[in-house]
Amino acid sequence: MHPMKTIEQIAAELQGYDPQALRAADVNAFLERLVAPVTETEEVGIFEALGRVLAQGVVSPISVPPHDNSAMDGYALDGAQLVPGQALVLRPVGATAFAGKAWVGEVGAGECVKIMTGAIMPAGLDTVVPQELTGAGPDGTIRIAAGLLRRGDNRRRAGEDLMQGRVALAKGALFTPAAIGLAASLGLKTVTVYRRLRIAYFSTGDEILSLGEPPREGAVYDSNRYTVFGLLTRLGLQVIDLGVVRDEPALLEAAFRRAAAEADAVITSGGVSVGEADHTRSMMKQLGDVAFWRIAMRPGRPMAVGRIRSQMQAESAYNARQSSAGSYQNEESTARSVLFGLPGNPVAVMVTFLAFVRPALLRMMGCTHTAPPLLRAASAEALRKKPGRTEYQRGLVSVAADGRLQVRSTGNQGSGVLSSMVQANGLIVLHHDQGPVAAGEMVDVMMFDGVV
Ligand code: AMP
Ligand code: MG
Repeated sequence: MHPMKTIEQIAAELQGYDPQALRAADVNAFLERLVAPVTETEEVGIFEALGRVLAQGVVSPISVPPHDNSAMDGYALDGAQLVPGQALVLRPVGATAFAGKAWVGEVGAGECVKIMTGAIMPAGLDTVVPQELTGAGPDGTIRIAAGLLRRGDNRRRAGEDLMQGRVALAKGALFTPAAIGLAASLGLKTVTVYRRLRIAYFSTGDEILSLGEPPREGAVYDSNRYTVFGLLTRLGLQVIDLGVVRDEPALLEAAFRRAAAEADAVITSGGVSVGEADHTRSMMKQLGDVAFWRIAMRPGRPMAVGRIRSQMQAESAYNARQSSAGSYQNEESTARSVLFGLPGNPVAVMVTFLAFVRPALLRMMGCTHTAPPLLRAASAEALRKKPGRTEYQRGLVSVAADGRLQVRSTGNQGSGVLSSMVQANGLIVLHHDQGPVAAGEMVDVMMFDGVV
């Protein structure tokens, strides 16, 4: 079992940890220590396994392909007869070798066998000349002109895709469309995967309207719960939608307790910035072991992370101080879930999810590769940037006239402007120490097109 570290213990492990001016990279380092892969596994059919994470490597029970076979329609021959600089004349013997049937017969010197793609290579033959490279020789023979063929050409080797006994799919790998095909090519109907994570989420804020409520002055429709739904669903997770929770301690407490009891993690949006009038922060403090951060980033900045208990922290802290056996049992039976308290602004929600929450969830899912893919593209324009914070600008990557990748920022970069995310296919990552970017300069882009 992963030893569960407290916020204080993790903070002590990270050099220069400053919750009031945290670097983006330190957020990832922190979360990697906070979350652990699930341990429960299950054997499921390969259809159901799509998008899940392999909990056991798949060792190839067979070789693929199982036999040496022809890659072309043509004639199989013994390549030892090929002499550099000389044409070769061969006489086809016996029946045609078709895919799916072993060819039986004898092939002597000066002979060849007509063969179809995928057919097992007749014994003793190691080379295939494609039909279209042959000419007609005298008396029904075929002629291969000099220099057209080398020994071993157009023959697929047994096991060249997968060798029996070798690892075909690694533990911790995502079961992708290629992986489902590969498993099928091995004749496997099931694989062993980690159990599906359950993630609860809710929005906070008295100004947030649920769909179906009539508009009222000063109120906005909830968008965060829908982007979070989309982001989680694309990860193949089981979601528990706890709705919009009004700014009342009893409602917030009930939502957090339910999340802690039912989910591996809970994602909230809103109510984590300093000076918030609402009760979200205080309820997080009461029910959990939580760090409140100001991250040196834009958009984003306020974020809360930690663990939320289904029981009141005040109670258990009191019980722990009493140090009676019963209180420890009580502590043991308390359900916990990881808390990701995201800022309220809709773009900040998506950016903090992509940069921090998604890698952490992938780790919890059991994935060994969790870092988002970055590519380099030339900035189509100059970008303003101050050193001392990480900026994530919405970018649209395309191929420039010269064939190189270029990226252009999409519209108003305000942290509430969700349309900038709709137009973008990636985030331009301007790193902590980076200054302004000149037009044409190469920048890193975290692609989310097709990823989320
Ligand atoms: P907060 O972090 O709670 O101060 O919210 C920052 C901004 O994001 C405010 O303008 C909120 O109205 C807005 N906001 C918070 N939650 C949501 C939500 N679920 N959907 C859309 N906007 C939101
Ligand atoms: Mg608020």
